Amino acid sequence: MVSHNGAIGGIDLGGTKIQAAVVDARHEVLGQARRETPASGGPDAIVAEMAAALGEASDAAGIETDSLLGVGVGSPGTVDAPAGTVAQASNLSEWSKPFPLSQRLEEALGTRVALGNDVQVAVDAEFALGAARHHDSVLGVFWGTGVGGGLVLDGKPWLGRGAGAEFGHMVVEQGGARCPCGRRGCVEAYAGRGAMEDRARKLAGKGRETVLFEIMEERGRTRLRSGIWSRALDRDDELAHELMGRAVEALGAGIASAVNLLDIGAVVIGGGLGTRLGEPYVKKISKAMRPHLFVDDRPPEVSLAALGDLGGAIGATLLIAR
Ligand SMILES: [Zn+2]
Repeated sequence: MVSHNGAIGGIDLGGTKIQAAVVDARHEVLGQARRETPASGGPDAIVAEMAAALGEASDAAGIETDSLLGVGVGSPGTVDAPAGTVAQASNLSEWSKPFPLSQRLEEALGTRVALGNDVQVAVDAEFALGAARHHDSVLGVFWGTGVGGGLVLDGKPWLGRGAGAEFGHMVVEQGGARCPCGRRGCVEAYAGRGAMEDRARKLAGKGRETVLFEIMEERGRTRLRSGIWSRALDRDDELAHELMGRAVEALGAGIASAVNLLDIGAVVIGGGLGTRLGEPYVKKISKAMRPHLFVDDRPPEVSLAALGDLGGAIGATLLIAR
């Protein structure tokens, strides 16, 4: 085995996939692995798969997991980092009560484990190593099934009293569309892939023509994943363009409102849809912000997340590096 002093593991725990990476002290990726998140079996099954993914990434790096400096985890749900627990992870199987994730992973991997919020660690990675590395402050917008947010202000992650930076629930239309959170008019009610799929199903059910569900079946999927939206847009599907247009307008209004409040110089767009749709959509979002910016002669720099799919796992390693 090659010796890598100071190698660190990182795991990005998502609703559909578990991404693991092992990096060296300079944040270079030495090995990585990706597995499906078990849809049943609860936290026990998920922990086993997380440990297997990290083991695979470590094998690829030529390192035993117990000789890693530690493993950071970016998790959805309510993360209590000092206690090492995760609760209320509603996208994960049977995961509502606080579960001792740190302790269970430490037992499986033989090294220390630190927990962080999934979106915040991805934003930290973009701030430290990615698209916002030349800025003091950044708003990260993670555009996927939901719309997540993360904030770094003057070099410090900003979580408020613990639940800050919930960008997806900025209100862009009073009394507007119903959001998965139960409220109305949030950014996520228009831009979340889950909410967009619900609306697409409803409109298709009323007879609107669309290739979205044809493509979904061709690809053997049951949900409208990011790649399906992207293919439908490429095929000039009118409904896909209409819903995506609504999403872009909501993101633009929400981001501009956040910029009006904070006057930050950098916005980074990531997440499954953000990464998939790429630069052309970053430009569309940036354009949609303009009419809402109070100080419109120096708009913030809006960029695509530079670390892509690995950003969450690399960001999780920073929990140990700090
Ligand atoms: Zn909401």
